[in-house]
Amino acid sequence: MEKIVSTTIKGDKMKVRFSCKKCLVSQTENPQDVKKEQQIFNGQSIELMYYECPVCRNKNYVQADNTQSKEWLTKMFMLTKQQIGANRAGRRGKNAGKAKKIQIHLRKVRNELQNELENAGYNFVECEVINGD
Ligand SMILES: [Zn+2]
Repeated sequence: MEKIVSTTIKGDKMKVRFSCKKCLVSQTENPQDVKKEQQIFNGQSIELMYYECPVCRNKNYVQADNTQSKEWLTKMFMLTKQQIGANRAGRRGKNAGKAKKIQIHLRKVRNELQNELENAGYNFVECEVINGD
């Protein structure tokens, strides 16, 4: 299953569902309620996104970024901006290949970071995106 990037989910009706890693109670959350915290991990500054379990207060992490993944995110952002400009000018996009490469790098960096964090005892959960009427 594709890991969701909480900040990219728009609209009030979207919700995410997961089971708390500690007490196993199923949670439904609004993506915009995700919390962020900065930490130093293995000497590098990282940003963690998580939902706090209302039952046991466990932090269920959904995503982690370090300086490297943020650089890829910035590249992706610049490319998207460029692409919007190109679309407005009626030019056909040549950035799809570039975007794909950036995505691959980004996913790799995030996966590696997440593995390191999981090995260090951080609880990561897989979120399922649902319609939350
Ligand atoms: Zn819990």
